[in-house]
Amino acid sequence: MIIDVHAHWGPWFFTGLDTSNLTVMDRYGIDLAIVSATEAVTYDPAAGNRALARFLATAPDRLLGYVTVHPRRLDEAERDLREFLPTRRFVGAKIHTDYTGSPIKSPQVRDALTMLADLDCPTLVHTWDTSVLDLAQHCADLPRLRAIAGHMAAGGYRHAIAAARSCDRLYLEPSWSHGLAGRMDEVLAAVDPRQLLLGTDATLIDPAATLGILAAARPTPETAERIAWRNAADLFRCIE
Ligand SMILES: [Zn+2]
Repeated sequence: MIIDVHAHWGPWFFTGLDTSNLTVMDRYGIDLAIVSATEAVTYDPAAGNRALARFLATAPDRLLGYVTVHPRRLDEAERDLREFLPTRRFVGAKIHTDYTGSPIKSPQVRDALTMLADLDCPTLVHTWDTSVLDLAQHCADLPRLRAIAGHMAAGGYRHAIAAARSCDRLYLEPSWSHGLAGRMDEVLAAVDPRQLLLGTDATLIDPAATLGILAAARPTPETAERIAWRNAADLFRCIE
């Protein structure tokens, strides 16, 4: 079983895969993907969340959703979370800090994460370089927050290792566009396997990247199972 905790639904302004989520998932044996609407992430959260809700209403249950939260539009975000989380087709929240002009250490992101912790809503936050340490600080400050560091801070993966070691409610996923040799080996050697998840960034990035990174690092069978689905199933309570 494979659960992809970082996927997107809808077209990109970048060159992504011109293929539907389910086709990409079938190609790589991905059983379940949690997607955010690209429209919500890059342009209009309210419209994108609603478009995704309409799509998920008739889509196979192999697809679940993230409610995209714009930290500078928290009233809208709270309305969307209260509308969509109870449907159980949405199981978490997604925050993109760059597109919304909201650094992780900004008061707007702090307020958004406070709200999401109160809602007991797992939250995927894009992290780059040292910003993952700011996400770890929010986890330390908010005892109910469960956060996923999207892209595992990319080139800042050593900061991601330190961040994960500082708080067991901070999870890492490796959807790097450049999976340099040896990075994942360092992560596996230093981070509790209960805090590792599988994310691909499909359909922007081909899942081959993440799957290759993980295969090359040769986790133990037990750790591989945790990364592939077990940790995600626990975090999102998405497997009956
Ligand atoms: Zn993303």
